[in-house]
Amino acid sequence: MIKRAENFEGLENGFVKCKLCQKMCVLKDGEEGACRVRVNYNGTLYSISYGILSTQSIQPIEKVLYHFYPGTKTFAISSVGCTFNCLWCQNFGISQAKQASTITYEMTAQDVVDSAKRYGVNTISFVNNEPIVWYEFVKDVSKIGKESGMKNILFTNGYITLDALKDLVKYVDAVNLDIKGFSEELYQKYCNGTLAPVLDAAKYLIENKVHLELTYLIVPLINDSLEEIGKFVDWVRDQLNSSVPIHFARFFPAYKFQDRPPTPADTLMAAANLAYEHGLEYVYVKNVYFEGLEDTHCPRCHIQLISRHNFNISNINLTSKNECPNCGLKIPIVGKPSI
Ligand code: SF4
Repeated sequence: MIKRAENFEGLENGFVKCKLCQKMCVLKDGEEGACRVRVNYNGTLYSISYGILSTQSIQPIEKVLYHFYPGTKTFAISSVGCTFNCLWCQNFGISQAKQASTITYEMTAQDVVDSAKRYGVNTISFVNNEPIVWYEFVKDVSKIGKESGMKNILFTNGYITLDALKDLVKYVDAVNLDIKGFSEELYQKYCNGTLAPVLDAAKYLIENKVHLELTYLIVPLINDSLEEIGKFVDWVRDQLNSSVPIHFARFFPAYKFQDRPPTPADTLMAAANLAYEHGLEYVYVKNVYFEGLEDTHCPRCHIQLISRHNFNISNINLTSKNECPNCGLKIPIVGKPSI
């Protein structure tokens, strides 16, 4: 389905300028943007992936967020396209694909919300490919969902213009934002993007009370130095706050980085230790098993509050107000955790 895009400006001679992401593509008639799913037809920009899905599944919300309705299931959907081209993309089959070469199907925004309700979940998650390039559909689903009590979650690279983000956050309840590394050079060299707007988006989300968690996929020899990880965690502590949950994720060979080994377990452990040493309070490791590193602990008295394994919760030790039962500290968890 195609739909007239939001966030663009018509220019002379049939050109348009897309203002959805920080790439700000200027496109001639018939040309598609770098995300491959927004096209200029006769001086008007269209989303060509509106209502086009590549995957849908019911999954543990822990695959997306740890501090948002822990232990529940979420209806996770994705489409195709991305604003970045990260050479290690773990979802390159849909993020870097052309829509025409991908198996897809159509749903209306109402269908998505109705499906979520039928499955008995209270959250819809936009995951796997970049949801920002699906902006109009994400917004319509989220609007309808919100009217019937759904919470909406994005897993995004955060490379959106602030104007577009301002409009979208009215409907978004929670975000997991991917940080690709902590240098402009890395973003430009490996992702075709820039870091500064991503950090601005993270700040904006916090300022506007959107629940935020951050994921840092550690890619061997790319962003795995403790110096770079230290800059990242210091920025989180100083510019966001020390209670923002951080997920260090393990890289597996993918896309253009098929020849690299998975992230060594020791590297993930060292990153987590560093983050704790630098004052972050909720630090997790994903895609590799370390006893305790999927669990939530009280940052004040250190008792275990939520026990997790492989995205599933086996024990909850919190008061009904999400406080530590031992020292009374309020834990930044949205919603009632369940097993
Ligand atoms: S959303 Fe797509 S078309 Fe728009 S600026 Fe970004 S990459 Fe270009």
